[in-house]
Amino acid sequence: MSEAHVRALVKASAGPGFELRDVPTPKIRDDEVLIQVRRTGVCGTDVHIYEWDAWAQGRCRPPFTVGHEFAGEVTEVGRLVTDVKEGDRVTAEGHIVCGRCHLCRTGNAHVCPNTRIIGVDRDGCFADYIAMPATNVWHLDDSVSYEIGGIHDPMGNAFHTALAGTELPGKTVLVTGCGPIGIFAVGICKAAGASRIIASDVNPTRLALARTMGAHDAVTPQEAARAVKDATNGLGVDVVLEMSGVPAAIHQAFGLVRVGGRVQMLGIPAKAMEVDFATEIIFKGVTVYGVVGRKMYDTWIQMTQFLRSGQFDPTPVITHRFPLEQFDEAIAAIKGGDAGKVVFEVS
Ligand code: NAD
Ligand code: ZN
Repeated sequence: MSEAHVRALVKASAGPGFELRDVPTPKIRDDEVLIQVRRTGVCGTDVHIYEWDAWAQGRCRPPFTVGHEFAGEVTEVGRLVTDVKEGDRVTAEGHIVCGRCHLCRTGNAHVCPNTRIIGVDRDGCFADYIAMPATNVWHLDDSVSYEIGGIHDPMGNAFHTALAGTELPGKTVLVTGCGPIGIFAVGICKAAGASRIIASDVNPTRLALARTMGAHDAVTPQEAARAVKDATNGLGVDVVLEMSGVPAAIHQAFGLVRVGGRVQMLGIPAKAMEVDFATEIIFKGVTVYGVVGRKMYDTWIQMTQFLRSGQFDPTPVITHRFPLEQFDEAIAAIKGGDAGKVVFEVS
């Protein structure tokens, strides 16, 4: 059983920073479970909330516990929960959906308009304990560590982007943006049998990580056009995974995809940007797919199968590990731009 008071990293008020506080142990409802958090991932969203930028100000209502990527052990289950038990090793889908709307009922829960996100719209996982609806719990395969379990959320973004609606075996792929999610995607494309993976970024440390994860070419944006031309006899790549959200990279994605190719868009531009629909999309016959989160639960099943088989190992992407107390350092590591995945070792 859990203690009465536990640690939680809290967005305490409408301003920059976090506070590590003692808070009451979260209470669970009848359809929820209590999870003792072992490992968490830290992500760009947490940096937005830490800095209290315009997006965070518009979206978040302090005080709340931050963090949405985690894995841990179940310590208590609600009365109505049947398929999760004490001692289970789990992670969870952090998007809590309504299950009743048109989208949820047509297999599209990842775009449920009633989605509430842990660590954004309700208490999150940078804490000793988190309460989660049992429907969102995902059991970890025996072969998967808490550390890898703790980064299933961003890995799932990469799996969703790389695999939804695409056929990667034998295909040429350009990954624009080698943040943690882009680097995961490189490894997934490799495991899925892409014949040539070209990764682009402005940061040499991240390009080196992309190479480690299996990129055949890891190049600057300036070098990308030449690399694509050489790899595809001037045709352009079959698939682009856009994982930067930077307008220049988005234009490059449409420029370097082949006629009739596919652009999978994960990166989120900071503000509205101009697109020349006629030349960038329509006359090229390009298919564009907008990625939101992870498909429930197709993406989770695929991710577990790739991990279990050993064909995809994300471990090299994790470059920084901190105790929860060192949250300022963890945020600084992400802002520094050189990090792969940053994690908290909670307990
Ligand atoms: P990140 O910011 O760490 O990675 C972006 C990378 O793009 C950086 O390494 C940066 O150096 C690189 N970059 C900058 N300019 C570039 C250019 N011209 N060409 C190529 N690369 C360039 O972000 P992340 O955590 O890996 O996430 C990737 C993107 O996905 C972000 O925009 C994030 O907001 C978004 N995201 C979307 C979803 C979703 O559900 N759609 C979920 C999570 C994250
Ligand atoms: Zn819904």
